[in-house]
Amino acid sequence: MKNKKQNKIDVKAYILAGALVVFVLTGFFLLGRKIAMDNSLFHTPIEPAYYHEEDFKKPPEITIYEKKVSEIKLPIIMYHYVEYVKDPKDTIRKSLDVTPYSFEKQLATLKNNGYQTYFVKDIPDILAGKTVVSSRSAILTFDDGYEDFYTDAFPLLKKYQLKGTIYIVYDFIGRHGFMNEKELKEVIASGLVELGSHTLDHLSLKSLPTMFAKKQIFDSKALLEKMFGITVDSFAYPYGTFNKSVEDLVRQAGYRDAVSVISGKTQSQNNLYYLSRIRAGYFEGSNMVNLLQK
Ligand SMILES: [Zn+2]
Repeated sequence: MKNKKQNKIDVKAYILAGALVVFVLTGFFLLGRKIAMDNSLFHTPIEPAYYHEEDFKKPPEITIYEKKVSEIKLPIIMYHYVEYVKDPKDTIRKSLDVTPYSFEKQLATLKNNGYQTYFVKDIPDILAGKTVVSSRSAILTFDDGYEDFYTDAFPLLKKYQLKGTIYIVYDFIGRHGFMNEKELKEVIASGLVELGSHTLDHLSLKSLPTMFAKKQIFDSKALLEKMFGITVDSFAYPYGTFNKSVEDLVRQAGYRDAVSVISGKTQSQNNLYYLSRIRAGYFEGSNMVNLLQK
């Protein structure tokens, strides 16, 4: 026979075990719901290997849809961070960074050499001949919506009166290291910045089931438009990854254009939804002009 004390311990043990089961089941339920709702467990704000080499080239299956159309040379420069990187061991950040000093030199080079800057959303009209541009035209783009765009890049764009398109990840707005709603409103109000979508939470779209990819592409547009009272015309593929089905979703969502990370300076109706870009390096002065004109 068990004594009273023993019984008390048994009851305690049952209660504890019961609580543990409820806790674990609730955990599984919440985890499952999170995955089903937005797939957001799969993103990391600081991205591991940022780009894969294959994404700098055109996906082979895309070429068969291309028609013979006229092309224009219009360099789109791709920036990520514009800051003095504090942690020397942060090699990804460093590889994606241009220092504010170099950035300013680049803007001065554009200005001194008579370059006009445009938004990415201007490209459809440029290609259609509705907007006539000189051979000294360029587009500046900034991916991910980092805080340093507001603190470092934007003041310089204002100083030189040059335009840029920023690609914002909706769920990153206001997170540590990213611009918040107020800052974004201010940059849009300047008239120098176009806001484009970079999905809800920066997932590689070609690896997602269509239903999730669609949500990332469609919902980010709708939410950004609602938050800022603007039309979002431009889209950027996270990590530069896309395929024909992802490209079709971007068209269906009503975007006018999309940028890839495919290297190049030539744009046409064919690649309106996978516009080529060049990576911002530490070029400036005549080197930069040669690179843009070549
Ligand atoms: Zn990105």
